[in-house]
Amino acid sequence: MKFDLHSHTHCSDGVLSPAELVMRATARGVNALAITDHDTVAGLAPAQAAISEQQLPLQLVNGVEISTRWQQLEIHIVGLNIDPDCPLFLERLALQQQRRLERAEEMARRLEKSQIPDVLPAVLALANGAALTRTHFARHLVNIGKASSINNVFKKYLGRGKTGYVPSNWVEMADAVQWIHDAGGVAVLAHPLKYQLTTKWVKRLAEQFAAAGGDAIEIISPQQTPVQKRELWALCQLHGLTASVGSDFHQQTSWNDLGKNLYLTDDVTPVWHNWALN
Ligand code: AMP
Ligand code: MN
Ligand code: MN
Ligand code: MN
Repeated sequence: MKFDLHSHTHCSDGVLSPAELVMRATARGVNALAITDHDTVAGLAPAQAAISEQQLPLQLVNGVEISTRWQQLEIHIVGLNIDPDCPLFLERLALQQQRRLERAEEMARRLEKSQIPDVLPAVLALANGAALTRTHFARHLVNIGKASSINNVFKKYLGRGKTGYVPSNWVEMADAVQWIHDAGGVAVLAHPLKYQLTTKWVKRLAEQFAAAGGDAIEIISPQQTPVQKRELWALCQLHGLTASVGSDFHQQTSWNDLGKNLYLTDDVTPVWHNWALN
């Protein structure tokens, strides 16, 4: 079975609709796909509807990616197998969305001071009701010629410490783990090597995530080396965690696609080891 347990739709900052995403996953040979949009579960019902209507041979895993705070850093925690109808969970995600809106307003104010006016209406139009992310800001700034690529927008304006960067009051990492458990899911530390931390800090992060009751670490992303995968699996073993795999797909690129390079070796206990799968 091929698993991809981290992906985005246009309900947050992915480019495909939920229906397009599940069709692409099926075409790419994925058997179990988690949709993990930023602080929203809005893509799950339409994805399941598309799977049922077209009788796709794909199991949908109900997921979410929560932006959290840990030690002044922004750490992403993926929830898998959460109940997307849990009222308390939906209330909590609504709080995160409110924080996204407030952050966006402040980001627009800061960009305006840097002579980039009228950003907010354009970003709201681009997002079209989706969870408001920095990616939407980045797309707009590329559109108006402020940078040549999304990545360059982050380097110039939106990355930590840059003009348009606004730290947000996200939920604490440990509380996000609890939110996910309260919604019946398992908590996964997302892409631990993407936070630009030293090895010492990655270890500290894994330790505190485990201490907070976290369940698994994403040890496989398409661009990670075999050595990195082994080191992350060693961290899982040290703390009694299982391993997850995910492409973090937002759109097709030369280095990333659904289900790409997500192989786990036999010695690894996957996060799905005790799941009932069809
Ligand atoms: P937000 O959750 O609004 O803070 O936005 C974070 C999102 O921005 C991430 O999920 C990525 O999709 C995207 N992102 C962050 N850094 C970069 C980067 N350097 N290049 C392209 N996209 C990025
Ligand atoms: Mn994203
Ligand atoms: Mn992330
Ligand atoms: Mn993601």
